[in-house]
Amino acid sequence: MEFTHIPHPSPMDASQRAEILADPGFGMSFSDHMSVVEYDEAKGGWHAASIGPREPLMLDPAASVLHYAQEIFEGMKAYKQADGGLALFRPLANARRYNASARRMAMPELPEDLFLESIRQLVAVDRDWMPTVEGGALYLRPFMIATEAFLGVRPAKQYKHIVIASPAGNYFKSGAPAVSIWLSEYTRAAPGGTGAAKTGGNYAASLVPTREAFDRGHDQVLFLDAVEKKWIEELGGMNLFFVFDDGRVITPPLTGTILPGITRDSLITMLREEGLEVSEELYSIDQWRDDANSGHLLETMACGTAAVVTPVGKVTGKDMEFTIGSGGPGQITSKIRERLVGIQNGATQDTHGWVMKLD
Ligand SMILES: *Cc1c(COP(=O)(O)O)cnc(C)c1O
Repeated sequence: MEFTHIPHPSPMDASQRAEILADPGFGMSFSDHMSVVEYDEAKGGWHAASIGPREPLMLDPAASVLHYAQEIFEGMKAYKQADGGLALFRPLANARRYNASARRMAMPELPEDLFLESIRQLVAVDRDWMPTVEGGALYLRPFMIATEAFLGVRPAKQYKHIVIASPAGNYFKSGAPAVSIWLSEYTRAAPGGTGAAKTGGNYAASLVPTREAFDRGHDQVLFLDAVEKKWIEELGGMNLFFVFDDGRVITPPLTGTILPGITRDSLITMLREEGLEVSEELYSIDQWRDDANSGHLLETMACGTAAVVTPVGKVTGKDMEFTIGSGGPGQITSKIRERLVGIQNGATQDTHGWVMKLD
């Protein structure tokens, strides 16, 4: 499919943009363009691909995304390479997960090559939005919404796939070396629900617990399973790994209630290459506390595209509080983060074919 191009010269002057790129924060500024691909069952499916100005959408007030939340998204980054080029990290994994989310939300799948092309073309026109700050990347947000105007509970027949880009620096406002997390009494996803799909509704449900965490001075919220309220699932938008003093590492299994993170999957491989014994198994909150207190647990790391790999320093709940290790970054966490970042920016050899160079 050919993308129509409608150029949109940046309305921002160069010095203003340079200031943003030197300290972009996370999710606060956006590039000049967006990719759009339209879907209409009556027109044979996906059609009308374009790269145009990033501008407000025209949506009928009855568009079903606004009423029934038929929506999915992805989160990925374009990384600056040591040689000046740009690269994506495992973008096909994002394309596949997008389609897995689409199937769960009764939405049409987007051909993987069209998903990739919508990203490549946007990055090509907006590459000047790459942050200059150390560790910065161009965050990419593909998403799909149901645009058909009707009230009634059935899958829509019209959709838009859109990609926007945002220069990104540090994900956590606190900038602390290790994050502090709040154990919520709310749950995020139940068996048979949408926990494994990257869909806005999961985040809508997490806003009250997230606000609770922020109000109490924590960086992130931790969710337990919805049935026994005992097993650790994940943070608001990050998967977890537990590192023990005997060389073992545990990460919660993909039971359908947690998001199958691409960073999670990459870390399982990388930690095994470091000689650690990684198992995907259930781990309870009480065991976590006891292992942290006894010193059997050395480190806990949270991972995701936005926050990369971040050490968890402290856990607080209604009636528990414990610190992991010294409360700061541990050795394995720092080492694996460095290796992952190295692969992403081309400084470390990519032995898995994870990096897709652009241009
Ligand atoms: C996106 C996401 C993650 C992390 O996935 P990555 O592919 O590693 O970025 C973890 N948990 C939730 C709830 C997510 O939405």
